[in-house]
Amino acid sequence: MDFHSTRGAPERIGFSTALLRGLAPDGGLYVPQEWPRHDAEQFPQELALPAVGMQLVAPFAAGDRLAPSLSDIVTEAFSFQAPVVPIRGAAAGESLSVLELFHGPTAAFKDFGARFLAACFQRLRAPGDPLLNILVATSGDTGGAVAAAFHRRPGMAVTVLYPKGLVSPTQERQLTCWGDNVRSFAVHGTFDDCQRMVKEAFVDPQLRARQNLSSANSINLGRLLPQAVYYAATSIAHWRARAERLNFIIPSGNLGNAVACIWARHMGLPIGEVILAHNANATVPEFLQRGEWQPRASRATLASAMDVGNPSNMERLRHLLPELDALRRAVTAVSVDDTAIGARIRADRAAFGQIWCPHTAVAAEVWARLPAEVRRGRSWCLVATASPAKFPEIVEPLIGESVPVPPALADLLGRPTHVESLEPTLEALRAALV
Ligand SMILES: *Cc1c(COP(=O)(O)O)cnc(C)c1O
Repeated sequence: MDFHSTRGAPERIGFSTALLRGLAPDGGLYVPQEWPRHDAEQFPQELALPAVGMQLVAPFAAGDRLAPSLSDIVTEAFSFQAPVVPIRGAAAGESLSVLELFHGPTAAFKDFGARFLAACFQRLRAPGDPLLNILVATSGDTGGAVAAAFHRRPGMAVTVLYPKGLVSPTQERQLTCWGDNVRSFAVHGTFDDCQRMVKEAFVDPQLRARQNLSSANSINLGRLLPQAVYYAATSIAHWRARAERLNFIIPSGNLGNAVACIWARHMGLPIGEVILAHNANATVPEFLQRGEWQPRASRATLASAMDVGNPSNMERLRHLLPELDALRRAVTAVSVDDTAIGARIRADRAAFGQIWCPHTAVAAEVWARLPAEVRRGRSWCLVATASPAKFPEIVEPLIGESVPVPPALADLLGRPTHVESLEPTLEALRAALV
């Protein structure tokens, strides 16, 4: 299949070129030229993620040089589960479940996309190719997921830039616990400085001549497409059990996870409503309400991985649904402030025994605000994007107890750290890399 840019450039490229480029040369995002149609009945009885992934992604990779290895790639990328856990204690008539996307190596959903992309990149390398250096700016989960996915892969290296003192101690340990082919830099600046340095590095002639730089940014098609797989598997299982569409509430920032769900529905999977749960960064809810796109500088919130004032994947959503009315019928969006996030974490620990991460709590709050008849009338699934154990500094004071740490995460947090510090300038980054 071919892909083209959301900004209308006539160029058509294949699957692996779209992955290697990340962003289109006209600044747009890659989208597929056509949409395969899927029917819940055509999927295997056993809905293991690699098998669903193979069926869902194969049409996009058809004819591409990655097609022969796709089966190995999905097996490698989907090596952990995305269980759906029913919430007991929801009121009579309510059907509520949680799709837990945090059972991967860094305990956030970004592990799915990062691992798929890394598995693809590795197979796109030829012997003797120069070292591929993945440059990533992060304010939290992305850096850890990308570092974990590329750690110890031959021929590839990762450079992580994060703002010194502006990520939590637990996050910092996940960004610096790698070593080997991963270098982590604490930048004396903000996340915006880190992102600017990465952008400057990509257009710097000296670095481009000496370094084979690439990105594993969340706008990369290779991170977005695999996320449609868990929505397919979850909605098909629900369809088979209950003969109804499953409705999702998705904690959202850059909208990569949400667009994957909407793409899955567009391909025919039995998904009902999709609600975007945003924190106080309300660009998307305001746009759907007023019809005017007004990106803002991001505001810091408790759900920091969603602190995005100008969500990049909105461009994909508007490309799919250019008419505002059609977009409004396809998605709704709600904004939740920090006070409500904290209160929801406390309340649901008490009511359901459930401990949310601050991002998942945004979705839980959106569900609680639905009119009672909407909660009762259909089945809802909250998407849990991270484990609460990644955010003990926020969650523990709210619930007054410690959060159990999953073994894989405990292992990461116990490793020795490797970190270098860096001034927030291109010159400093150049000196560090060359
Ligand atoms: C990245 C992230 C989000 C936001 O996902 P998008 O795809 O950017 O909308 C939500 N929750 C967690 C825990 C994240 O790491």
